[in-house]
Amino acid sequence: MDTNNHKNLPKPIYGESPVFQMAVLQLLEVAEVIGLDQNILERLSKPKRAMVVSVPIRMDNGKTHTFIGYRVQHSLTSGPSKGGIRYHPSVDIGEVAALAMWMTWKCAIMNLPFGGAKGGIACDPDKLSMGEKERMTRRFTEEILPIIGPRMDVPAPDLGTDEQTMAWIMDTYSMSVGYACPEIVTGKPIELGGCIGRREATGRGVVYCIMQALQEIGVSAGNATAVVQGYGNVGAVTCQELAMRGVKVIAISDRYGAITNPEGIDIAALNKHMADGKLLKEFPGGREADANEILTMPCTVLVPAALERQITENNAAQLKCRILAEGANGPTTPEADKILADSDIFIIPDILCNAGGVTVSYFEWVQDMAQFFWDEAQVNQKLEQLMLKAFHQVRTVAKESKLSMRLAGMSLAVKKVAQEKKRRGLYP
Ligand code: GLU
Repeated sequence: MDTNNHKNLPKPIYGESPVFQMAVLQLLEVAEVIGLDQNILERLSKPKRAMVVSVPIRMDNGKTHTFIGYRVQHSLTSGPSKGGIRYHPSVDIGEVAALAMWMTWKCAIMNLPFGGAKGGIACDPDKLSMGEKERMTRRFTEEILPIIGPRMDVPAPDLGTDEQTMAWIMDTYSMSVGYACPEIVTGKPIELGGCIGRREATGRGVVYCIMQALQEIGVSAGNATAVVQGYGNVGAVTCQELAMRGVKVIAISDRYGAITNPEGIDIAALNKHMADGKLLKEFPGGREADANEILTMPCTVLVPAALERQITENNAAQLKCRILAEGANGPTTPEADKILADSDIFIIPDILCNAGGVTVSYFEWVQDMAQFFWDEAQVNQKLEQLMLKAFHQVRTVAKESKLSMRLAGMSLAVKKVAQEKKRRGLYP
């Protein structure tokens, strides 16, 4: 399908972004499969609302720098919109709009009462001091204040942001409304109303899905190997949880390089090495490797857990994994998807695979609203239960309708949102 020829593709503000084009292409494909109402398709192919703000802050050197920040809400049909805030140099309106759309499908697949949103600031957080990050976060929060709220739009961490970022957002919002409002963000520190297990939730969810997929292909954890791209929150926890279950992690990369070890990388030792402020590629328990080449290494499970558009038409045919578990959002382009459709690689699509994070965010929001807190066992048990339910729902649709796992997941999600839209009707 050529996006430029399609009359429904929004132009030019989001349409020029390859990431946004990719999200729209996926939507168009599923719309055709499920026979989606043209009017609803048109609405769902654009965000509900997007805000672009200037974020001027005083840098440590005394100069002022103005960053550009975004918050995009794709849908508020099913409840408040939900989604992370990303600090990364690649952040732009198209990327954020695509990520917001994916959040809508992710929340729908998990049956959470949320729509999708995403936000971000184009910056390199590794080059900012704590003070600069705090000032940037607080000013950004102030700028997007009119469109966020516990019942309107609830931010969370994403690439380059963490619990501390969420604490600053919570404080800035609370100071503005005049009372402590923990339910404005999820992924907060526990002492501010955060949820036990939220930090690990995305990686855990990825691994719950991988375990199901291993069963599907008839390989035991002890006989499986994994290659993981990205060693941030998602990649690191995924490695830890895989190692705990006896899966050998034979290669890992991050933005600075990669390592391999055919005997299995000692994850606990690697975490200690990184906690000392050293680089992954300098880890003595592995051999330095090329970050792109590890994607095509023979392995049982490949987990892209970094940025979008990593599996493309250029490398898809070379993948030698049996399971592709999409820890990242949008790691596989539609062109690559077509190539993979002819292979027997079992794909766990992003909107299912990495949905553990927003699922525990939902638990956190519920606890904050009720001011009644759960213990870790409750959180993990409920997370596993919801992840397995969603996995098997998607698997069943894929089998019964002979669809790829991605199309099956998308069709469940888009149908749910479309039905809610129909029921609510068009205002006024
Ligand atoms: N940023 C995460 C994601 O992409 C989590 C969003 C959330 O918890 O609201 O799913």
